[in-house]
Amino acid sequence: DRVLELKDFNVTYKNKTKKVYAVKDINLTINKGDSLGIVGESGSGKSTLAMAILRLLPERNTEITGSSNFANKDLVQASEKELKEIRWKELSVVFQKSMNALSPVHRIGEQIEDIYRVHKPNARKEEIFDRIKALLRLVNLSERVFKMYPHELSGGMLQRVAIAISLIHDPKLLIMDEATTALDVVTQGQILEEIVKMEQTLDVTRIMITHDISVVATTCNKIAVLYAGELMEVGYVKDILKEP
Ligand code: ADP
Ligand code: ADP
Repeated sequence: DRVLELKDFNVTYKNKTKKVYAVKDINLTINKGDSLGIVGESGSGKSTLAMAILRLLPERNTEITGSSNFANKDLVQASEKELKEIRWKELSVVFQKSMNALSPVHRIGEQIEDIYRVHKPNARKEEIFDRIKALLRLVNLSERVFKMYPHELSGGMLQRVAIAISLIHDPKLLIMDEATTALDVVTQGQILEEIVKMEQTLDVTRIMITHDISVVATTCNKIAVLYAGELMEVGYVKDILKEP
């Protein structure tokens, strides 16, 4: 069961004087339940690829060619309206800085509740509360954070909140772009474990963008290696990252 299929996928940045071919000729299939790590050194095109899949690059100076099939649509050709609908219902993304998107002056619970209400305007109070509790449990946070303000939480807790928020609408595909990179190694390790654990009860396919191969080793079943915008290798983690 295919979730995402990229065919001859290219991304170019066009500046006044030059073109930068940031992502070149990517052919890649992601199946339901896969957790695919996309690794490569800085500048290899990882973020460009992720943002291009989400169609979050500015159209003014970028060009995407090829196709990207997701939810029976080619996202490369999709209209702004179709994209909005698909992102809204089926996609999610967590960035390194996602936690910064939380409002400092509203309690965590209120913020999650507001986002839930945007998705389900007619939801009953108890339904919302049950859902939020379940989401918090999924990312190993106690209900106590519900009443807390962002400044009262550690970076790791805030990023867990960001992950919980990304799962609010039950996305089919979750893209994590260096989502744990800014955290200390202990916290990072804990959150990575939690991600693997939470997926045992979720129906989500994940793309993990990272410069850190150990992140892929602990949380992914497949790996794709980017080098200078090109896909060097794709396969199962157990085959590619096996001990020598
Ligand atoms: P990172 O490696 O963490 O993705 P960079 O330092 O490469 O960050 O990029 C920081 C910002 O500058 C980003 O918004 C990126 O899109 C932009 N950028 C990166 N390379 C170029 C470039 N060659 N020309 C113009 N903007 C660039
Ligand atoms: P990574 O995420 O692996 O660090 P990026 O996707 O940020 O790689 O960058 C891939 C290539 O595209 C790099 O050569 C970078 O300099 C270039 N690039 C990134 N953003 C821009 C931009 N806004 N304008 C021009 N070139 C860019």
